[in-house]
Amino acid sequence: MNQNNGRVYNFSAGPSMLPLEVMEDVARELTNYKGCGQSVMEMSHRSKEFGAILEETEKSLRTLMNIPENYKVLFLQGGGTLQFSMVPINLLRKSKKADYIVTGTWAKKAAAEAKKFGDIKIVASSADTTFSYIPKVNKEDFREDADYVHITFNNTIYGTHYGYIPETGDIPLVADMSSCILSEEIDVTKFGLIYAGAQKNIAPAGVTIVIIREDLLGFAPEEAPTYLDYKVHADNDSMYNTPPCFTIYVAGEVFKHILKNGGVAPLNKIDIEKAGKLYKYIDESKLYSCPVQEDSRSLMNVVFVTGDADLDKKFIAEAKTIGLVNLAGHRSIGGMRASIYNAMPMEGVEKLIEFMKKFEAENAK
Ligand code: PMP
Repeated sequence: MNQNNGRVYNFSAGPSMLPLEVMEDVARELTNYKGCGQSVMEMSHRSKEFGAILEETEKSLRTLMNIPENYKVLFLQGGGTLQFSMVPINLLRKSKKADYIVTGTWAKKAAAEAKKFGDIKIVASSADTTFSYIPKVNKEDFREDADYVHITFNNTIYGTHYGYIPETGDIPLVADMSSCILSEEIDVTKFGLIYAGAQKNIAPAGVTIVIIREDLLGFAPEEAPTYLDYKVHADNDSMYNTPPCFTIYVAGEVFKHILKNGGVAPLNKIDIEKAGKLYKYIDESKLYSCPVQEDSRSLMNVVFVTGDADLDKKFIAEAKTIGLVNLAGHRSIGGMRASIYNAMPMEGVEKLIEFMKKFEAENAK
């Protein structure tokens, strides 16, 4: 078990751990937010108090990610999944062509959804090696008249991450950053649109953040459902309908917590250290191996196997008994996956490595 508070180290891919300090602050304010006599859960989204929360949450995110003025920040619902359709509905605006790089399950799903709306080309894929690497692409690989290029910046299931930002010239680059947002400094100006579900590095599930360059607004077809038009949300400051108020509030608290601790750069340093320790041990070990090519490894999702499915199961079950939980790989690929998002303390990674060593000694072949 963790520290002295009876909490486990939760290696879930999402929803996942949140900073304890933030949750304690939220608990303190749960029934009476800042003396206003009600909880944020009960509050009208049109109230002065919630208006201030939304405004501050956006402001904090803009500071953390250095988001330029000509980008809108939207707080939506529907998860990364709804973005798989909102992106093509809004951005297939001229040629109705878009190019996708397929690096895993979520990228594949994004491309499949887009195919319902236009001419989608898979310009590169790492399916040939069960998505163990990120393909290198150049500007020449994209169709000149593509309306956008879509990438999945961090592949939660396969544990891969782009070590570079593809050069797309004038074609807007769209990135799904659901499982890596706020884990590294990103030059937002390199992207036309960034989206991310909250339930990994930001907040409980329920809000999806969309950062969109203003010139990409206003192209949803007339017949598109109103909620699916980015411009509707931009024009209404994410208040076209009732937003996920409580999740937005927690996101704002997490953003303030990150700001208080120096922003994204120090977090990235710790994330590199955490993942570095784990990969180093896996690479040196005789029992475990990581199937991911070194230059494509994720800082957030560390995938590993013993090579024996029964032993993997035993590992996951034994780890659970000492408070290291949710270490099973995605149901589609098996093995193990340690998701070590921003809120996973170094101590959790150290405890995991300690357990892995013990398990290796006891189960050496
Ligand atoms: N994209 C990525 C990279 C993800 O990891 C996930 C979910 N884990 C999704 C999209 C889908 O997100 P949601 O369940 O919020 O729709």
